[in-house]
Amino acid sequence: MKLAVIGTGYVGLVAGVGFAESGNEVICVDKVEEKIASLTRGEVPIYEPGLDKLLRRNLSEGRIQFSTDIENAIRHAYVIFVAVGTPPGEDGSADLSHVLEVAESIGRAMNGYKIIVNKSTVPVGTAEKVAARIESLTSHPFDVVSNPEFLKEGAALSDFMKPDRIVIGTRSERAREVLKELYAPYVRTMNPILFMDERSAEMTKYACNAMLATRISFMNDIANLCDLVGADVHMIRMGMGTDPRIGNKFLFPGIGYGGSCFPKDVRALMQTADENGHSLRVLRAVHEVNEDQKLLMLHRAVAHFGGEVADKVIAVWGLSFKPNTDDMREAPAWAMIQGFLERGAKVRVFDPAAMGTAKEIFGDAVEYSDSAYSALDGADALVVATEWNEFRTPDFPRMRQLMKGDVIFDGRNLYNPQRMEEMGFRLYSVGRGTV
Ligand code: NAD
Repeated sequence: MKLAVIGTGYVGLVAGVGFAESGNEVICVDKVEEKIASLTRGEVPIYEPGLDKLLRRNLSEGRIQFSTDIENAIRHAYVIFVAVGTPPGEDGSADLSHVLEVAESIGRAMNGYKIIVNKSTVPVGTAEKVAARIESLTSHPFDVVSNPEFLKEGAALSDFMKPDRIVIGTRSERAREVLKELYAPYVRTMNPILFMDERSAEMTKYACNAMLATRISFMNDIANLCDLVGADVHMIRMGMGTDPRIGNKFLFPGIGYGGSCFPKDVRALMQTADENGHSLRVLRAVHEVNEDQKLLMLHRAVAHFGGEVADKVIAVWGLSFKPNTDDMREAPAWAMIQGFLERGAKVRVFDPAAMGTAKEIFGDAVEYSDSAYSALDGADALVVATEWNEFRTPDFPRMRQLMKGDVIFDGRNLYNPQRMEEMGFRLYSVGRGTV
C-alpha cells in the first residue's frame, strides 16, 4: 500500500520503518531538513534499539524514502499517517498547531480519496477538527481516522511490530477495511484490532496514559509512607502484584514519571475535563504527587548534608526519563539537577545514551563524564536517576574507592539496602528506608 507518514520523531519514524518492513511503499516527511538528510543516509537521529538496521534494510530495498516535500508525499499516498508532535500549550491542553498545519497541507494537495490517520495523541474531537480543515480546502472525498499509538520508547520497534492491540476509531466502513488490511501482518497472534468511534479512540489513549501515571504516583505515595512507618515497599509491591486483580506491572516506586507522554497527556486530559465542567480530581493528585517526587532525592540530599549542598560534588547516573532512550523531555533527572545547580552544587553526569541531549539542555552548567565510574571521582554523593541495566550491579568496592563521600541516593531502588550497608555505603532509597 502507498503510505505517507508526516513527522519522523519517535512515533513517525518507527511507524514508517515498521510499515515498510511489511512491504508497503512509504514516504516519510519532516520539516527539519537535517533530519531528512540524515535519515536518507540511513542514520537514525534518535536512540531506539534495532531501528537503524531495519531502516537501512528498507532504504536499500527502496520501500522507504524521506523527504521535506509534504505535497508530493500526500499525492503519492492512499493512507496518510499524521505523527507530528502535540506539545503542551500554555494552559496544559495539547497544542494542535502542527496537526492542523498538516491538515491544511493535506487539504491543498488532495488528488483523490485518501484516508488520514491521526497517530499523534490528540484531544477528543480532533478528528473532527482535522476533517473540517481538510474539507475547507478540497472537494475530494476522504476519511479521518483516529489510531493512537501505544509504543514505548526503548522498545518502540517491537511494540509497533507486535502491538498488544491496535485501536482504530472510525465510522467509515471503507477506512475500516483498508486499515484492517494494512495492520493484518501485525496482528497474527490474536492481538486484537479494536474498532470504535473516533472520539472513543482519542479518549482511550489518554485514559491509558492517565491510568499508568496513576499507578506510578500511587506507588510513590505509598513508598513515601513506607519510609515514615518503617515498611519495605519492595515487599508491598510483591504482595500487591501477585493479586491478579492488581497485576504486577507499573508498581515500581521511584522519582516520578517523565517523558514526552505521561506528563503532557495527564495535563491535557485534566484540561479537557475542566473545559467540560468536570474536575478529574484523582488525576490532579497524580500530577501533584509526581511533581513532588521528582525532587525527592534533592530534598533528601539537602537534608543529609545539613541543609546545604553548595560546592558538594553530586554525581548523577542516568538522565533520560527511562532506560534505553536518549529522550530527556520532562525527565525527573532534569528537574532534580536544576535544583542542585540552584543550590550551588557541582553536578557531574553520566548517561549511556542521553549525553548529547543533556548538553543541549545544561550547556556547560554541569560536567559530563565519559563513564559511570569517572563521574564518581571525588564525588560527595551519587544519585541514581534512571534504571539503566548497567547501573544495577556495578563494582561497588571501586565506587567506594573513587567517591569522596559514602552516600548514594537510589532514586530507582536498584540496590539492596542491607548489602550496601555491609559495603560501607549510606543508602537512601524510595520506600525502603535509609541505611
Ligand atoms: P517528536 O517530537 O519526536 O516528533 C515529531 C516530529 O514531527 C518532529 O520531527 C517534527 O519536526 C515533525 N513535525 C512537526 N510539524 C511538522 C509538519 N508540519 N510537517 C512535517 N513534520 C513536522 O514526537 P513523537 O515523540 O514522535 O510524538 C508524536 C506524537 O505521538 C505526539 O502526539 C505524542 O504524544 C504521540 N506519542 C508519542 C509516543 C512516544 O513514546 N514518543 C508514544 C505514543 C504516542
